[in-house]
Amino acid sequence: MNSLVIIMSLRVKFYGTSAAYSDGRRGYSCLGIREKKEEREGESGGLTLLDCGDGAVHKLANFGADLLSIGNILVTHCHSDHVSGLASIIETMGILKRTKDLGIFGPKGIKEYFGTVQKITNVAADRKFKIRLTELEAHDDRFKLGGLEVRAFPMEHSIDCFGYRIEAPRGSNRNTRKIIISYTGDTEPCSESARLARDADLLIHEATFLEKDVANARLSKHSTALEAAQTARKANAKKLILTHTSFYNSKKETILEAKKVFSNVQVAHDGLVVNRGQL
Ligand SMILES: [Zn+2]
Ligand SMILES: [Zn+2]
Repeated sequence: MNSLVIIMSLRVKFYGTSAAYSDGRRGYSCLGIREKKEEREGESGGLTLLDCGDGAVHKLANFGADLLSIGNILVTHCHSDHVSGLASIIETMGILKRTKDLGIFGPKGIKEYFGTVQKITNVAADRKFKIRLTELEAHDDRFKLGGLEVRAFPMEHSIDCFGYRIEAPRGSNRNTRKIIISYTGDTEPCSESARLARDADLLIHEATFLEKDVANARLSKHSTALEAAQTARKANAKKLILTHTSFYNSKKETILEAKKVFSNVQVAHDGLVVNRGQL
């Protein structure tokens, strides 16, 4: 019998939206996709996290996330502003007496990273739950997390980094086109980021710089707001949200630059929610 999955609601929430150097007002990269299901069989769903930078546990608590509902964490890459919150999330889950397995996915290096942190810090030593760590290969066959289908694309950054393309059913009708959410992590413009974003309902793209600092964007392998918007247009994405933005650049400047080539764009702030009806 086919497993029955009916998704009643899907919500994207931004917990941290700052680039690697923060003024303390916004948290580091962390966002979540929440599924609420009327009926389901098979793997559990709940909250899927995308990245968990330093202080993620604090931001999750501030915005009312239930840590025990986190089923899986997809890490784009092992820079501290995307992964350093992992240990404290796991520690807190241990304190909360979690029993359900936790899945962690990321590029090559995530096992060594977490293995070292665990060895040195003995994180959640008495935990009653298993951690399933998976190092993904680029273009691995898509895999399922609850009602979500996930695929990793190799981005162009200073270390191995994956963008994630996530597809979720719109409802119980299998023939209805799926909702596509694409998240770049950190990258400079590349053919793979355009593939990642192809026909996405929502493209969440980093925009660390503006065009005035494009030389720095090339040096550090990041994108400008204009470049993110160009990728959205090239890929025929429907909606663009810019994240991983710097406090050096105002929201207004960032939007104005992106709107030169792509009109349906906004800049993320911590606490921003996008509901299924907006996609
Ligand atoms: Zn970053
Ligand atoms: Zn990075």
